[in-house]
Amino acid sequence: MTSTNDIRRSFLDYFGSAGHSIVPSAPLVPQNDPTLMFVNAGMVPFKNVFTGLESRPYSTATSSQKCVRAGGKHNDLDNVGYTARHHTFFEMLGNFSFGDYFKEQAITHAWTLLTKEWGLPAEKLTATVYHTDDQAFDLWKKIAGLPDHRIIRIATKDNFWAMGSDGPCGPCSEIFYDHGEHIPGGPPGSPDEDGDRFVEIWNLVFMQFVQEADTIVGDLPRPSIDTGMGLERIAAVMQGVTDNYDTDTFKALIAASGALTHTPTTGDNQASHRVIADHLRTSGFLVADGVLPANDGRGYVLRRIMRRAMRHAHLLGAKEPLMHRLVPALVAEMGAAYPELVRAQPLIEATLRQEETRFRQTLDKGLKLLDEATAGMNAGDVLSGETAFKLYDTYGFPYDLTEDALRAQSFGVDRAGFDTAMAEQKRAARAAWKGSGAKASDELWFDLAEEVGATEFTGYASDVGEGVV
Ligand code: ATP
Ligand code: MG
Ligand code: MG
Ligand code: MG
Repeated sequence: MTSTNDIRRSFLDYFGSAGHSIVPSAPLVPQNDPTLMFVNAGMVPFKNVFTGLESRPYSTATSSQKCVRAGGKHNDLDNVGYTARHHTFFEMLGNFSFGDYFKEQAITHAWTLLTKEWGLPAEKLTATVYHTDDQAFDLWKKIAGLPDHRIIRIATKDNFWAMGSDGPCGPCSEIFYDHGEHIPGGPPGSPDEDGDRFVEIWNLVFMQFVQEADTIVGDLPRPSIDTGMGLERIAAVMQGVTDNYDTDTFKALIAASGALTHTPTTGDNQASHRVIADHLRTSGFLVADGVLPANDGRGYVLRRIMRRAMRHAHLLGAKEPLMHRLVPALVAEMGAAYPELVRAQPLIEATLRQEETRFRQTLDKGLKLLDEATAGMNAGDVLSGETAFKLYDTYGFPYDLTEDALRAQSFGVDRAGFDTAMAEQKRAARAAWKGSGAKASDELWFDLAEEVGATEFTGYASDVGEGVV
């Protein structure tokens, strides 16, 4: 079996041998874009190179980039544990051409790596192209010999990428692997494309136009290439499993979680173990890159992820803080590729331990309240916004944790009611503050806190990475 670590190496070596500079992953906290919460695609650290703002001593590059999609427009948090192919933290393998090679070579590289180097059966692969991109259609025919019905024209934004409303943009081509008839799901573009049968493994973006105010105004002077392949997804394919959580890395993390909780990792417990393994990676990598749990911004996304995992540990019957004890397994799996994990191991452990110790003080009581509040509810019913707010305010339950907790019984949460309760509390706090004779500067603080802090991050101000890599 080819290990995930070997696949990462093999990808970088392939493109390295083809003249690409091998660039280490950038940190998860974006260094060139304050509007972006976390790096969510391999191209993000190269954004200014694509626009020409920055130049580098190379015109082609390859990387395995740490990505987090757990907030804003790219939020895969709710998929975790429930699809076979989504994580909140994952690695995106990519090759990039900054005005160097274009479509033909990008498709040739992708096809050669997948079918020649790695030996994947050509008949299991399907490509999509943007509906007007005849050039890409013809290249797939010519280079890969794909029959017409396995080059699917897609007219949606899924196959058209833009850096924002202004800047480079262009069509893309997604490569799918067919895991077989026994897995539910249909081919791309079909009504049941969201199943796990046809899995998108690689996205090739052909940057060839420039747009202004969402309208194409001309050709990009030097057409460029940006690709992204999910390492965990290609690992599943190459390891002959149909589920990312059955690959070597995840199996090891899930086994550790099973051993420490003395619980089976299948059946009713499966989703909990998967959430724990996923969130362990995200928490570990975020702390290693300098994010700490907090009540707003990036730190609140981390806190939400940590606490969600902690509720699942509790569900598995863990009586003591668990997550910090899983860190050695994470470091054993991924520390060689990401030495920052090894360096930060003591900090990751201490942070998880402290957060879990604190959260345990209120978790039990909060879950009891939740049980009482939902007694008598039926599938499809909605928990009141006031109760969700009380869980948030008194027991430290992030809103989405409550939602996740109710999901198994198909109960919803009244989001609008929650928001109203939150706004009411802020209003009351402000009124109380005013009545206390506080100075004008304190009031200014309240204004600021309301504007920038205290609330959770809900979206990106810009569209970097929108839709695709
Ligand atoms: P999907 O449609 O499956 O959600 P996507 O089109 O949103 O994927 P891209 O933005 O094109 O994904 O990212 C490039 C590649 O990264 C994808 O082809 C996929 O292999 C991988 N990928 C994307 N999101 C995730 C995720 N949440 N977990 C694991 N791998 C992912
Ligand atoms: Mg997606
Ligand atoms: Mg997609
Ligand atoms: Mg895609």
